[in-house]
Amino acid sequence: MHNIEADYLVVGAGAMGMAFIDALVSETETRVVLVDRNHQPGGHWTTAYPFVRLHQPSAFYGVNSLRLGSDTIDQVGWNEGLYELATAGEVCAYYDHVMRQQFLPTGRVSYFPMSEYLGEGRFATLAGTEYTVDVARRVVDATYMRVVVPSMRPPPYRVAPGIDCVPPNDLPRHAGHQRYVIVGAGKTGIDTCLWLLGQGIAPDRLTWIMPRDSWLLDRATIQPGPLFADLIKASFTARVRAIADAASVEDLFRRLEDVGALLRIDPAIRPTMYRCATVTQAELEQLRGITDVVRMGHLLRVDADKMVLDGGAVPMDGCALYIDCTADGAEKRPAKPIFGTGGITLQSVRGCQQVFSAALIAHVEAAYPDDATKNQLCAPLPHPDTDLDWLRVTLADYGNQLRWLDDPDLTAWLSAARLDVLGHLLGHLAAPGSAKPRVRDRILSMAKSALSATATKLDTLMVEEASLTAP
Ligand SMILES: Cc1cc2nc3c(=O)[nH]c(=O)nc-3n(C[C@H](O)[C@H](O)[C@H](O)COP(=O)(O)OP(=O)(O)OC[C@H]3O[C@@H](n4cnc5c(N)ncnc54)[C@H](O)[C@@H]3O)c2cc1C
Repeated sequence: MHNIEADYLVVGAGAMGMAFIDALVSETETRVVLVDRNHQPGGHWTTAYPFVRLHQPSAFYGVNSLRLGSDTIDQVGWNEGLYELATAGEVCAYYDHVMRQQFLPTGRVSYFPMSEYLGEGRFATLAGTEYTVDVARRVVDATYMRVVVPSMRPPPYRVAPGIDCVPPNDLPRHAGHQRYVIVGAGKTGIDTCLWLLGQGIAPDRLTWIMPRDSWLLDRATIQPGPLFADLIKASFTARVRAIADAASVEDLFRRLEDVGALLRIDPAIRPTMYRCATVTQAELEQLRGITDVVRMGHLLRVDADKMVLDGGAVPMDGCALYIDCTADGAEKRPAKPIFGTGGITLQSVRGCQQVFSAALIAHVEAAYPDDATKNQLCAPLPHPDTDLDWLRVTLADYGNQLRWLDDPDLTAWLSAARLDVLGHLLGHLAAPGSAKPRVRDRILSMAKSALSATATKLDTLMVEEASLTAP
């Protein structure tokens, strides 16, 4: 047994652990021990399928201190005209670079890959050496979000012998079937459909198992920088107006769709799922070309001659390739206080912006005195899953944002944070010296009152909805 000392013990070198350490090490002189069972940093990205890309721009992914990619606008493909999206390869190379060129040279980060955390400050390396870390400040749990991608586990339904069923990781090597069955309609299912269509496979050769339809985000409205500032401002204003004018939750979704804040694949079907999946209009058009969509609940079993779902059986000839896209990459975990007696539990503090959240939590840890204040600034925000979660996440988002804008130091930090997608919009207005103070204050005050009124209205809509659905 070896003893080592550190201020922080971080468990998990995924995107959240890396963003947290980057901000902490940049802002303090602390020493960090980082433990991960994986062989390289990057978490789930290291086992991702080969054609995955970020679904939101690289411009606000990674760690705060280093740009990911080159902030170029795609000239070709279904993301044309929008900011680039890193591939899994780029993401992994980036984290390797951050580790080797930024973290380790500080002499304050000790990294233990291929090491299993055993609890109570103890971990074991692959070679079997056990360490106990004497932690002066906190243990940081950067594993709590429990990201699962299909390659990490077998499909959760039975597959008869002789039927081909693969995770998307193996799809390029197994392509060549007459029919492809895409199991699951989350972002991985969407990526898989788009990859097949992008290879020129006709849409009528795809069968898409879609237990729930989903509200989707339009990537054009989630872009950084001055180029898109007017569009983002217009889309924010339209969303705020839709909420203000909504007479009910049902009416709200109608209005949000009308102003382009939410999209859906089939206009005839009212989505019940919302998980921040993000597409472009061009991608949406491609997906709409798939007509064999099976809406019969979850897949239970694949037999030689049929698929069995919650809602019944569908005859199949046994020659199709099934692609399992059912893993829960963004589970709705119970919220727990981020700063607790047991340490820090990294969670989202802005909807579906995990890396930004981790960096902000590190800044709050470094800059604020006590846990009550820190928790007040960092209310955790569980991942959305249902349509109603759009309201919950938006409400919680606005609540956190308002608390941050009430704090001038935090507002200044946000304005310089590369990972803050809103900072690209509000930041340059709020940063000292970049705008006349009176103009800046007026804009901030307008933003605050819009957020505040919107939060109140969302609250009202949710209370009304709850009373309608109460038994
Ligand atoms: C396909 C896909 C695309 C995505 N695209 C985007 C995007 O475009 N933009 C965006 O903001 N977000 C995106 N996300 C969300 C994404 O999940 C987060 O951005 C982020 O990668 C999650 O990182 P994490 O650190 O929470 O988890 P993980 O990546 O799961 O990292 C956790 C780490 O903890 C380690 N670990 C766990 N338990 C132990 C233990 N006991 N001992 C030692 N080590 C342990 C694991 O080995 C792993 O390395 C995407 C997610 C998926 C699945």
